[in-house]
Amino acid sequence: MPNCPNCGTWNPDDKTLCWRCQTELPRPAPPKPKRQTILGFPLWVWVALLLFFAATSLGQCFISGIPPA
Ligand SMILES: [Zn+2]
Repeated sequence: MPNCPNCGTWNPDDKTLCWRCQTELPRPAPPKPKRQTILGFPLWVWVALLLFFAATSLGQCFISGIPPA
């Protein structure tokens, strides 16, 4: 619900001009999509890192667990 920057009158959302003084109304900024981030990285980066380290450590354990022939 933007208020007119000129006269401060409330205008409906769909109005582009103030109904009172015909001043062009500023368009309300679209809400930014909130993305969950941890330390600036998106969640999928951490999941990928976790999977990568899990895979490598598991692989090392598996390889070292094999008795030498
Ligand atoms: Zn106005």
